[in-house]
Order: sequence, then structure tokens, then C-alpha cells
Amino acid sequence: MPRIDADLKLDFKDVLLRPKRSSLKSRSEKHRNHWRSFLGSHQHPEGLFQVDLERTFTFRNSKQTYSGIPIIVANMDTVGTFEMAVVMSQHAMFTAVHKHYSLDDWKRFAENHPECLQHIAVSSGSGQNDLEKMSRILEAVPQVKFICLDVANGYSEHFVEFVKLVRSKFPEHTIMAGNVVTGEMVEELILSGADIIKVGVGPGSVCTTRTKTGVGYPQLSAVIECADSAHGLKGHIISDGGCTCPGDVAKAFGAGADFVMLGGMFSGHTECAGEVIERNGQKLKLFYGMSSDTAMKKHAGGVAEYRASEGKTVEVPYKGDVENTILDILGGLRSTCTYVGAAKLKELSRRATFIRVTQQHNTVFC
Ligand code: 5GP
Repeated sequence: MPRIDADLKLDFKDVLLRPKRSSLKSRSEKHRNHWRSFLGSHQHPEGLFQVDLERTFTFRNSKQTYSGIPIIVANMDTVGTFEMAVVMSQHAMFTAVHKHYSLDDWKRFAENHPECLQHIAVSSGSGQNDLEKMSRILEAVPQVKFICLDVANGYSEHFVEFVKLVRSKFPEHTIMAGNVVTGEMVEELILSGADIIKVGVGPGSVCTTRTKTGVGYPQLSAVIECADSAHGLKGHIISDGGCTCPGDVAKAFGAGADFVMLGGMFSGHTECAGEVIERNGQKLKLFYGMSSDTAMKKHAGGVAEYRASEGKTVEVPYKGDVENTILDILGGLRSTCTYVGAAKLKELSRRATFIRVTQQHNTVFC
């Protein structure tokens, strides 16, 4: 008989964060910071209280230490570009660079932008060709210390073996691996050598897994449960997919995510791959899932017959430089911390109480 898990599982849209009386140092500091955050500013006059969004992690298996604002641009070939990495690294934010750059591209980038290399990962699928290419890149650019192993289904035995193999070949690199949504698989991947587990099956903005296959897990609950499992082993997680606005990013951190990975929210910018399209006076850019027809045609000569396309192709409004979007997200996040009384991002999950809601916002004007 099929089993039904009747425990309530929630998405970002089902909850809000409850504001809390704060123990932040003084009212005036809090007040000023609150309004500054509202304006999205990350500049602050000397001495004024500022919510600290940087975190420092020491990873379980690589033993490496990393400091930065733990927001990651997804390893999708539209957004996970070198151009994006240059801007992100100026904010100490991270980019999982997509796997379609050549070795020469990597060498050129490393030579021109050595300052970015600490904030990027090289991505790979679980195929032999991917592994060989990634190995050559890591050999040529030893300053890159992060590996992002990304497969649609992180539950296969083959993937577990692949993570073990990569760990044995790269004992001191920090390995991100996924995607999964349940605690037992988070534990298995960490024990197999991964440091940071990518959590999310089906929540992505250009993902069609849930409609194509009926498989998925509400993202907020997945993050809460997977963070608990990972942290028990001194591992870490990335909430990957499903954030539609800065408030969702804050909820993912509140739920216990160490890192949050964003695709759609970073799409449509100058730093994204592809040309600006002009149609009926509107400026647009193409954005697509990594297993969409578009991506498959571009990189693999068409959708493989045995595997349904599980990604959408969309045209998104052109949003200009990504700098404004970054400031919007960081401003929102600082303000969240102020509302719940967290002096730093690290404290956000400890201060978070979620309330279940039936409505997120007032829709009169949208
Ligand atoms: P977003 O921030 O756009 O909601 O989600 C980004 C995430 O969606 C990516 O990091 C990746 O995990 C997932 N994703 C990207 N392309 C595809 C795809 O073609 N199919 C599926 N199922 N997920 C995708």
C-alpha cells in the first residue's frame, strides 16, 4: 500500500517571520538602522549599528574556512557567469560558475580576476567527461577551492559513489553536492565526503519537475529538516531554488539554511549571458532551466530520449546591472534581522519564529 506522510510541510509562501522585541543595543540605533535598511543602503556612517551579513564557516570534510555573505548565484549558464562573479565577489558573495566554460576561458578569467577566485566554485555533473574537465580546471586554477557537484536527482547510488570519488581526488576542496530534500540523504552525502548539501527538488523558477513527474518537497520544510540533519554532523546546507523576493531569502536563512542559492532572482541582468531582446518596445533577456530544451539543444545536441525535459524557457524583463538587485536583497535581509532582533545573519535562525499564514501581502495594486 502507498504510504501517506500527513505531517504538515510548508513553502515560503505559507509563512511569515514574526517580529520580536529586540535586545539590540539602543533604540535609536535600531530605529536608524531599520530605516536605512528599508532604503536598501549598505553604506553606513561611522559608528552606526549595522547588521552583519558576513558569516565564517569551517567545513566538515575539507577543513577549509570561508568568510562571505552566503548568497550564491546558481550554476545555470544564464546567470552563473564570470561577469556575474566579478560583481558578486565585490560584495563577498558567491558564484557557482556554470560548467560550460572551457579551460582556456577559466585560465583567462583567473589571470584577469584573481581577486574573485576565493568566491567561486567550479561545477560538474556526475559524468566522466565533466570530472575530467573539472580536474583540468582545478589543476590550472588552484586558487579555486570550491567544487559544485550538481545532478537533478541526488538520490542515486551512482551519485554517492561519485561524491566519494571526488572527495578522494580532492581532499582539501570544499564540495557542494545535491540536490536532495530529506535528512537521511543529507547525512549520506556528508558522510560520503560532501561539505555543503544543496537542498531543493522542484521549487525552481524554471523547473518543471513537479508538473512533469509529481516529485518534490515544500522548500521551507525541506530546509528546516535538512539543516537539522546537516548541522548534527557539522555539515552545512544550501537552500537551492524557490526564492521569489528578498523576503523568501530571509525565510530560507531563518529556516536554517547556511547558504541560499538564487537563479531567477539574478536573471535578466547585464551580467547574465545572452543578448538583450527588444520586442514591442520592451527589453527582455532569455532565461532557461539547465534541463530545458534550450539548454539541451545548446549543450547536448537535443533532449535525450530517455529523459523528459524538466525545465522552462522564459523571457524575463531586462533589469539592468545586478548591483541594484544585490543591494535590494541585502537591504531586505538586514531589515529582516532588525525586525526579529538579530544583530548578525548568524543569529537569524535562532531568532526566527514562523507564523503560518493564508495571505502574504496586499494585492490591491498588483
Ligand atoms: P530559482 O532561484 O530560479 O527558483 O531556482 C534555481 C535552481 O533551480 C537552480 O539552482 C537549480 O537547482 C534548479 N534548476 C535549474 N534549472 C533547472 C531545470 O531545468 N530543471 C529543474 N528541475 N531544476 C532546475
